[in-house]
Amino acid sequence: MIKLRKNQLLRFNESKIFKKRVILRVDFNLEEIEGDFYGKYRIEAIRKTIDFLKKAERIILISHFGDPQGKEKKYSLRRILPLAQKILKIRLGFLDDLNKEAKDKFNLLENIRFWKEEKENNLEFAKKLSNLGEVFINEAFSVSHRKHTSIYLLPKLLPTYYGFNFEREIELLNKVLKAKKLAFILGGAKISTKLPLLKKFLKKADLIFLTGGLLNTYLKAKGFEVGQSLVEDEMLEEVKRLRSDKILIPFRFKVKTKRGSEIRSLGEIKKTDKIGDLEELDNIFAELKKEKIIVWNGPLGIIENKEFEKGTLRLSKFLISQKNKFILVGGGDTLGFLERKKLLKKFKFISTGGGAMLDYLAKETLPIFEK
Ligand code: ADP
Ligand code: MG
Repeated sequence: MIKLRKNQLLRFNESKIFKKRVILRVDFNLEEIEGDFYGKYRIEAIRKTIDFLKKAERIILISHFGDPQGKEKKYSLRRILPLAQKILKIRLGFLDDLNKEAKDKFNLLENIRFWKEEKENNLEFAKKLSNLGEVFINEAFSVSHRKHTSIYLLPKLLPTYYGFNFEREIELLNKVLKAKKLAFILGGAKISTKLPLLKKFLKKADLIFLTGGLLNTYLKAKGFEVGQSLVEDEMLEEVKRLRSDKILIPFRFKVKTKRGSEIRSLGEIKKTDKIGDLEELDNIFAELKKEKIIVWNGPLGIIENKEFEKGTLRLSKFLISQKNKFILVGGGDTLGFLERKKLLKKFKFISTGGGAMLDYLAKETLPIFEK
């Protein structure tokens, strides 16, 4: 478990940034769906750090946006600039190259992935980036599981501090790691990405509610017919060996059939069906009600399709109704869904990290903390 010390936290080190040129790594990697941007919570999350940095001389924000092949206009951070200015209530200059002079107090650098060296963890590139400032601040928890130049190498070249939101995310996840009793809701697409976490929490948690695409692989491994559902066949052997009465599974599903959709119980699913969503959740809610700490990562069904979003929506509303509990929600797709449904603000504790959250919970550290 990582314990950040006072001398690593921005909050306690005002003098170290006072009148200094600061590089601020953020995560403005928003998602575009039908012309609208989602993931605004990622910008909102850095407000405190932005306010604090008003005492610095000049700040250059670095972020990636999407996974561009070269300099695709679609992935220019120029497109996020107006939104970021509005949410953060600051003027942001824009730098489309490393050698452009920063004229404003706050400046946003073009998508760092427009330089192919970003993903190559390239020391020469890190050195170039380090010329942009005297101090480095990591306020991109959600990127901190990646060994990319601006998140992994750059901080090794400059005095580095962690922002307010970064600190909070570590604190929230440490609370989960320290918990003696908790429930984990694990959904989403693939079991392969979440298996280390599942195995670990089978030891720690009271119960794990398995759902989403992960569940399909589990059900198939246990000998149930899942038809055309999303399954990772290469994981079947390993998943078959998972044996625990802590794993809670649903038993009524909404499936996609040749003609439309149908409700089916476990055991009735046909070869031509595809599991899209959960239909019955009351037995699951009854168990979750007994828990004081609940962590949720990953949608329950194919949320991109309105017909299969009901399970995830019902779980969201159930969790919102559970007062005086520590409920932590994370995952890019999960938070994106809650934002679209205007429910995200009703959750007090969120982890902006999808992969970073999973990695930190599974390994209790992140690559950036390697010596
Ligand atoms: P998160 O980003 O919240 O961690 P994931 O990336 O693991 O979540 O998974 C999100 C995806 O899981 C969504 O695109 C959703 O369509 C998919 N999914 C959930 N349930 C199913 C299912 N039964 N079959 C296919 N895909 C599913
Ligand atoms: Mg995802």
